[in-house]
Amino acid sequence: MFAQIVKFLGLCEEECVFCGGPIYSKDQGYFCDTCLESLKPYHPIEYREIEYVSSYRVFGRYEGVLKSLILHAKFGAHVSLARYIGKVISPYLWEYIELINPDIITCPAINIRRYWSRGFNHAEEMLRGANVPFVKIFKRTGFGGPSAGLTKEERLKAVESHKLREEVIDLLEDKKVLIFDDVLTTGATITRLAELVLSVGALEVHAFFVAQAL
Ligand SMILES: [Zn+2]
Repeated sequence: MFAQIVKFLGLCEEECVFCGGPIYSKDQGYFCDTCLESLKPYHPIEYREIEYVSSYRVFGRYEGVLKSLILHAKFGAHVSLARYIGKVISPYLWEYIELINPDIITCPAINIRRYWSRGFNHAEEMLRGANVPFVKIFKRTGFGGPSAGLTKEERLKAVESHKLREEVIDLLEDKKVLIFDDVLTTGATITRLAELVLSVGALEVHAFFVAQAL
């Protein structure tokens, strides 16, 4: 009700895409302050084993406001939201970077069709928002669609579409690599990326995810 009154009075132009409440801050323009303030880091008590990954951290659970933020940043193609997510996770990501002390920080590439339609790689924009320097070491081949609704075979093909850029192969020897990604689900993608990096002589692979889907 308050939101409707505020909107009627013209005190704000936009409604929060998550709760419908008024938005006052022009920082990103899609989520209200109440929703944004509800974002809390989550520390799972037990981290599971992920093949080829020495250690990993997650910022939060893939639910509620955080899930909505990630989906809007990705599929709504809002660079400002991707940057905002980076800003929110920045202290936690930096804490982990200082702990791991990686030689190279990177993130997965998105397929070219999605890059054309979206115009940016959301993971790269999150890293920019977090003020974390990164190196692009991956590329994607083929035209993989969104992974939801794919058969097991198609999903495997999507995972295999991740490749290393030829020009960085020599750079990875004896390096400690930190891979940043938005969501951890089955771990198939991060395992594929870690395997690629280790196959050309990298020392170890660590990972940081914005959210973990349970
Ligand atoms: Zn809200």
